[in-house]
Amino acid sequence: MKLILFGPPGSGKGTQASLLSNKIKIPHLSTGDILRSKLNDNDKLAQELSKIMSSGNLVPDSILNPIVTEKLLGDDCKKGFILDGYPRNRSQSDFLIDFLERNKIILDLVIDFAADTNTVRDRIIERSKIENRSDDNLEVIKTRLEKYFAETQPLAALYRDKFEGKFFEIDAMQEISKIQSDIENRLKNA
Ligand code: AMP
Repeated sequence: MKLILFGPPGSGKGTQASLLSNKIKIPHLSTGDILRSKLNDNDKLAQELSKIMSSGNLVPDSILNPIVTEKLLGDDCKKGFILDGYPRNRSQSDFLIDFLERNKIILDLVIDFAADTNTVRDRIIERSKIENRSDDNLEVIKTRLEKYFAETQPLAALYRDKFEGKFFEIDAMQEISKIQSDIENRLKNA
C-alpha cells in the first residue's frame, strides 16, 4: 500500500500515519521526524536545519529530495509506505512525480486531511506543552500554517486531478477513531 498524506500541521496526519503503519506494517516516512532526528547530529547540517526548522520555514529541496528518494528506494518501502510531510511545495511535487514515474512506483491512495486553521493552531499549542518542540510556539506556528496554505495546500488540487479515483479528502475535525475507520474503509477499496 503506497500512500501520500497531505494536511496542515496539527491536522492529525502523523497520528493516523503511525496508527496505520503499525496496523499494516509499512514504514511511516515523516520528513519532519527524519529531519528532527538529524538535529541530534552535532554537525553543520544539524545547525542549518535547526535554524530553518525553528523559524517554521521550509528546508531546501536540495536537502529533502535526496533524503526522501533514498528512503523510498529502500527495501522496507518495496511493499509500501506512508509519505507524511512531503511534497510540501511545487518543486518537490514535480520532483516526486517524476521520481515515481521513473521508478515505476504506483501510488494507491492520496489522502488530504481537511482541517480549519483555528483548530489546528489550538491543537499545536496543546501539543507543544507535551512535546517541547522548538517550532511549536505562536509566532512559528503562524509561519508554518502560512507556508502550508500558500505552498502545500494548492498541491492537493493537482493530486486530485492527477490521481483521480485515488484521491480522498478526509474530515480531520472528527474523532481520531472515526478518521482511522474512514481511512481503513477507503483502503479496503483501494
Ligand atoms: P512537520 O513535523 O512535518 O511539521 O515538519 C517540521 C519542519 O520540518 C517543517 O516546519 C519544516 O521546517 C521541515 N520540513 C518537514 N518536511 C519538509 C519538506 N517536505 N520540505 C521542507 N521542509 C520540511
